[in-house]
Amino acid sequence: MKTMRLFQSGPAEENRLQPVDLPVPQPGPGQMRLKVLVCGVCHTDLHTVEGEIHPPRLPVTPGHQVVGIVDTLGPGVSGQIKPGDRVGVPWLHGADGECEFCRSGLENLCPNAQFTGFHVDGGYAEYMLARADYVLPLPGGISDEQAAPLLCAGIVGYRSLRLSDLQPGERLGLVGFGASAHLAIQVARYWGCEVYVFTRAPEHRQHALELGAAWAGGAEDSPPKPLDRAIIFAPSGKLVPPMLEKIRPGGTLAINAIHTSPIPEMPYSLIYGERTLRSVANATYQDGVEFLRLASEIPVTATVTLYGLADANRALLDMKYSRIVGEAVLKIGMV
Ligand SMILES: [Zn+2]
Ligand SMILES: [Zn+2]
Repeated sequence: MKTMRLFQSGPAEENRLQPVDLPVPQPGPGQMRLKVLVCGVCHTDLHTVEGEIHPPRLPVTPGHQVVGIVDTLGPGVSGQIKPGDRVGVPWLHGADGECEFCRSGLENLCPNAQFTGFHVDGGYAEYMLARADYVLPLPGGISDEQAAPLLCAGIVGYRSLRLSDLQPGERLGLVGFGASAHLAIQVARYWGCEVYVFTRAPEHRQHALELGAAWAGGAEDSPPKPLDRAIIFAPSGKLVPPMLEKIRPGGTLAINAIHTSPIPEMPYSLIYGERTLRSVANATYQDGVEFLRLASEIPVTATVTLYGLADANRALLDMKYSRIVGEAVLKIGMV
């Protein structure tokens, strides 16, 4: 099967993913094999390729926003999902189900959690394996290309909205306007929130206004009114102090990033007034179930740019330089 595989991390400019032909994998106990139709390209893939986060083993096949058709079930797999069904594979490949985090519905924090395209091979390939108890059934009426960005950008954006404590009707700031923010804004608007978007690229500001932002500007600009909540999607710690300045007492700033540059030293007054500063780490299975239901109810529309599997390096590079409006999606197989 055709695969784009990472053997050694390094700058995306050096086309680090190599095209290789691998045997189609066989599902083990508790696993299912999927024929991959499309796979979204996430910032986490770029961090993995560039070595800002380190997969436990190399080589590895990235990709964790996978829409595929169930092809073969491994031993002992039973349940609702059957061969021929269309499913989604998210970032969380699986957790141990036994630790205090798993037992309290926080398996995203499980010390033994494994992630797709990081601990195990992901969807930059024609076939992949997934844990049968972690794949997400996909609602009908949504195309493969539209579904892919929902599976990480969408789900993690939804968790960020929840963890930002956002209440209906509040004023929300979104910092960075790529794959995740362009989906989160649609949920926030659905909840009746006024959304202020902070991003550099003019085409991203335009995209935000088209999706119903009340205002779009730069992180150095002041919004017309103080914000109740904000979410930082850009992997840049230096955005934390200027965003805290824009948040009212008692408000929340959530950081949705698996990696960011250091947060500079800042005066206590920025967080005094009972402001909350928190990170968002991964997402739970339940986040996926809830968000996919909500996304089809709203309905959320993803803006996508399609690439072939062989163009995965170019997709990563376009994302690195913010040349993509919405999300890059690799078109890999057909039913
Ligand atoms: Zn656990
Ligand atoms: Zn992701």
